[in-house]
Amino acid sequence: MLRVSNIKIDIDQPIDLVRSKLCKKLRIHDNDIVDYSIYKESIDARKKDQISFVYTVDVSLKSEKKVLARKPKDTVFIETNRYQDVKPGQETMKHQPLVVGAGPAGLFASLLLAQRGYRPILLERGQDVDTRTADIDKFWETGILNDRSNVQFGEGGAGTFSDGKLTTRIKDIRSEKVLREFVLAGAPEDILYSHKPHVGTDILKNVVKNIRQEIIRLGGQVRFSNQLTDINLVGDQIVSVRVNDHEDLACQDLILATGHSARDTYRMLNSRGLHMEQKPFAIGARIEHPQDLINKAQYGKFAGHERLGAADYRLTSQVENGRSVYTFCMCPGGSVIASASSQGHLVTNGMSEHARDLENANSGLLVNVTIDDYGSDHPLAGIDFQEKYEAMAFELGGSNYHAPCQLVGDFLAGRPSRGLASVRPSYRPGVKPTDLALCLPDFVVEAMRQGLVDMDKRLKGFAMPDAVLTGVETRSSAPVRINRDKSSLKSVNIGNLYPCGEGAGYAGGIVTAAVDGIKCAEKIIEKYSPLDTKN
Ligand code: FAD
Repeated sequence: MLRVSNIKIDIDQPIDLVRSKLCKKLRIHDNDIVDYSIYKESIDARKKDQISFVYTVDVSLKSEKKVLARKPKDTVFIETNRYQDVKPGQETMKHQPLVVGAGPAGLFASLLLAQRGYRPILLERGQDVDTRTADIDKFWETGILNDRSNVQFGEGGAGTFSDGKLTTRIKDIRSEKVLREFVLAGAPEDILYSHKPHVGTDILKNVVKNIRQEIIRLGGQVRFSNQLTDINLVGDQIVSVRVNDHEDLACQDLILATGHSARDTYRMLNSRGLHMEQKPFAIGARIEHPQDLINKAQYGKFAGHERLGAADYRLTSQVENGRSVYTFCMCPGGSVIASASSQGHLVTNGMSEHARDLENANSGLLVNVTIDDYGSDHPLAGIDFQEKYEAMAFELGGSNYHAPCQLVGDFLAGRPSRGLASVRPSYRPGVKPTDLALCLPDFVVEAMRQGLVDMDKRLKGFAMPDAVLTGVETRSSAPVRINRDKSSLKSVNIGNLYPCGEGAGYAGGIVTAAVDGIKCAEKIIEKYSPLDTKN
């Protein structure tokens, strides 16, 4: 198969033109093509008055060797563009594999195990997605938080109430499987080739439900309201796990995919001696602008063009105190959401629906935190650091999950906000205009101020005085890493535990977490033969 890149189509030209341009580029006839699919679609908006789409295409030809011999431009030979199943091992499995956490990592680990005949048991502390949606709506309306069912905990994990951006910078063929499974479960097909694939919360909820149903159809079990509360170790092996403080389940292999917000689980595992270490992360606030402003800044006269949709951005800045400031998890046409998972702690994040058609754009404006900032050598000191600022934000907002917010103009001038201006913040249950410097470290405030001014030079209007900052944003990634062996993927000191996904420090987003879930499941498949129906 050949992979041909750099096929350009003007914004108003039909996509069908790709095929004829491909033929021209390779100097072939249309009937030389055996099979053909778009591998990547991206937007070239460097010249605002001439925006185009750029395609990379995978094509099988009747005579690939002949074409390759001519050394056509932008063309390489590739073996396959599909994920290949790993070979099963020989050992006999006594107990079904346990997977803890139904976020992308745990869901994809369970899906692959189920597809290959290993009938996993998936334990999830939170609720199924429908019950969870009702719990979250209640929180956003009333400020009453359910600490077992929220934006971080429940079916689909932290990624369900999100923008559902499926962009990843990793070049792992497993991501092809992840995207394909998403499409089979109801995601739009364009995620297979879009440069910036995106699903949206409305569609994601169905996708995760369909994946759960597939796991069950294939013989797996999915248990909601089932929290891993303890492990029973004999030597370096977990022989059983405790669920909800009262039920014991025999354990042969356990994939631990509990995400970055399971602070009680980290603490329990730390007390049982599981090796873990501090890890840097980032902290800051959400920034909201009118989406129209971002569209105009990015697409000029093409702003609002139906093929472009709501524009996004990604900005970084190195500032004088040596910190990096960057925008994170940008949500075009979305909303800022209350994302707390424990009482008395306030956390922001962002989400959007598939249409991305709300009036504001938002993103996290974050500053990197190093382990030297934690002020302690304890492996979980990063969690204490997060909790400190989340508790300060909770109090500053009025101790009712209203979030402290500040206009960018006031933030830059170092004065508290007394009210709002033209940008209406989307965070529910409500916001309280105040001084965000009262719930963020000084070095973060200083870095954000400089970063805002610098970023405005690249995205006109980014530091507009009416834009709103809402804080605090602390869950950009895990402040802890659970150490694992690079090749076996097992914990370095508990022999049958696979630390997996974002919470263990091996992923940073939906796709990378799902890929890590697949990797851990492959290790179990490579070791054991599939369970037969008699087991
Ligand atoms: P998680 O998704 O955190 O899942 C862990 C699961 O484990 C949870 O369901 C939790 O309830 C469960 N659990 C925890 N402890 C236990 C226990 N003791 N017993 C049983 N179950 C337990 N990433 C993107 O790529 N694109 C985006 O657009 C995007 N937007 C986001 C928006 C929001 C609001 C948030 C919060 C995150 C967003 N992310 C996004 C990040 C992404 O969601 C995470 O990177 C990803 O979900 C991590 O996957 P995971 O499976 O490792 O962990």
